[in-house]
Amino acid sequence: MDNQCTVGACGRPTQDVICAGHTAELVAALKSVPDLHADLEITLARRHKVSGSTEGRRGVTTPVMFHEAASETLRALERVVWHWAHTFHSANKHLSSPPKTVQAACEWMARFPALIASLDGAGDMWEDLARETRNARRVIDLPASLSYRGECGAPLDIGVCLQALYAPSDAVTVWCRTCGAEWDAAERRDLLAGQVADACMNATRASQVLAAVGIAIASATIRTYGRPRMVGGVQLPPKLVAVGRDQRGHPTYRVGDVLDIFLANQAPSINCAA
Ligand SMILES: [Zn+2]
Ligand SMILES: [Zn+2]
Repeated sequence: MDNQCTVGACGRPTQDVICAGHTAELVAALKSVPDLHADLEITLARRHKVSGSTEGRRGVTTPVMFHEAASETLRALERVVWHWAHTFHSANKHLSSPPKTVQAACEWMARFPALIASLDGAGDMWEDLARETRNARRVIDLPASLSYRGECGAPLDIGVCLQALYAPSDAVTVWCRTCGAEWDAAERRDLLAGQVADACMNATRASQVLAAVGIAIASATIRTYGRPRMVGGVQLPPKLVAVGRDQRGHPTYRVGDVLDIFLANQAPSINCAA
């Protein structure tokens, strides 16, 4: 007796619950989990370092939200793995209990493709694993390809959409994958820059916070802004005026001042301060 594969609109005939093609994909997804899990933990540690550097500074929450995106994804991946490891074991009591780590549980299930193919709910299992491994890849890839564009904020029936938005640096439009809202990418960046403008911090931290909102200014460049300039043999005061000193005695700057100078330098005029 032939069944139809229960993955989405697949419907290919099968003796089991899902077809051979989707079984192979599911096994591959399970096998990819250990590496993705490790990469997510690295991403999380890196985000955490950045968020720690802005601790206690009101209004500078952006890097913390990066951290939340990675930890949310990691938790969702773990939840899905444990759910299916227990379902798989309940349906196959002759097997020993699932191993105790997410990585080992995935490798354990991947050893039994025939049992996966015939598992009640295998179609849902395929969808869960496909979704969570895709989300994990997206978060891991963020540093290279995407920048953070803040929480969506579109009005919903109750409250506002809290989905974190990401977009390639050169994107014109940003779409929310949760509510479908469409935003102007440049406006989102300006909005975020506005949120951090009044924060004061040293050059290293200012560079990190600006990078988190998608604006790349090297800390060395910020320090240059803060030094007196020689123009035509005359010493001029620094463009960037320190507002104070941090605990180690490094000058601190208002992020909005850094941004103003940076944007003025971006204008197509001749910069003779070099
Ligand atoms: Zn199928
Ligand atoms: Zn949204």
